[in-house]
Amino acid sequence: MNTLYLDYAATTPCDAAVVETMLRYLGEGGLFANPASRSHRPGWMAEQVVENARLDVAGLIKADPREIVWTSGATEANNLAIKGSCEFYEGRRGRHLVTSVTEHKAVLDVMRYLAGKGYDVTFLRPGPQGVITAQQVEDVLRDDTFLVSLMWVNNETGVKNPIEEIAELTRSRKILLHVDAAQAVGKCEINVAQVPLDLMSFSGHKLYGPKGVGALFVRREPFVGVFQQIHGGGHERGMRSGTLPTHQIAGFGAACRIASERWTQDAAHLQTVKEAFLAAIQARGLDFAVNGHADERIPGILNLSIAGVNSETLMAALPQLALSSGSACNSATVEPSHVLTGMDIPRSEALNALRISFGRFTTIEQVREAAGWLVDAVASLKR
Ligand SMILES: *Cc1c(COP(=O)(O)O)cnc(C)c1O
Repeated sequence: MNTLYLDYAATTPCDAAVVETMLRYLGEGGLFANPASRSHRPGWMAEQVVENARLDVAGLIKADPREIVWTSGATEANNLAIKGSCEFYEGRRGRHLVTSVTEHKAVLDVMRYLAGKGYDVTFLRPGPQGVITAQQVEDVLRDDTFLVSLMWVNNETGVKNPIEEIAELTRSRKILLHVDAAQAVGKCEINVAQVPLDLMSFSGHKLYGPKGVGALFVRREPFVGVFQQIHGGGHERGMRSGTLPTHQIAGFGAACRIASERWTQDAAHLQTVKEAFLAAIQARGLDFAVNGHADERIPGILNLSIAGVNSETLMAALPQLALSSGSACNSATVEPSHVLTGMDIPRSEALNALRISFGRFTTIEQVREAAGWLVDAVASLKR
């Protein structure tokens, strides 16, 4: 049975041009040399491939290429940004950190770890719209606040935070701002030359690049310090050691180049696809609510609570659809999503939530078919 993939927020397939690019750097006949090898031409050529990709990745977000640090993904970038900056400024700045309860676990778990090390962490709650406002941030800032870490776009709801405004606030108070932009880069306008954030994480596999590669943007002007979390050969200007994976980086670069060219076209397509899906389920009379802000969102992610139907039961009845409930499955019990409960959505509704996410390769025909299957499955479960 073919599965219709509507889980692009979890990961995306590589664009065909990305796959083609990567293959050039893998086999014996290709440019497989270690980009840190200084003693031969293949090494210098591999280094050139890495540096060209750095230009493409930096270009997408309007950064200087020297502000890009390669990592294994957004999880590692989040760890490096938060733990690395805390360690770098340890003893010279305050120990108060601000984040929100709807962050990705790769931020929340780092914050909990630091709380255990004596940092004081404020976890903001966004309310049912899912948005953290600049006012909310301002209200909790203190003289000893060192860093604020907030995501640009939420991976479960698609809701956007007003990072532009928050960045102006933190900059004016000389507080560092880290942004987890894994769901934003390549999907909406990101310009670090205009938004005074300090650190920003993103990932290859959320924008049609490969898994296992990502980047941390570390601003140079004004200078931001991060202390390495992986020690070794001193790669990446001492911020992250380890042999650079040329093929992953070249694929990530290609994905960013493609995104630069077509993200607006992708966004328009996703809007059309989403509207077609919503129109189809509405036409069939499905009783549902969209979770999160109506307008402050990217078009590719839809989080729905379907009245009276548990999402795990519903997904089991829809094996032909690859969807997500956004909830973490513990071994014994299914817990509702921390994002939805963090938005004060009642537990009963959070347990009925489905995350449907569309991508570059999703068609209108596919979402109409998916809508039909979904409505039929709900009807049969209610009978
Ligand atoms: C996917 C994702 C991550 C983790 O990225 P990896 O590259 O898979 O480590 C972090 N934050 C957000 C918001 C994400 O969507």
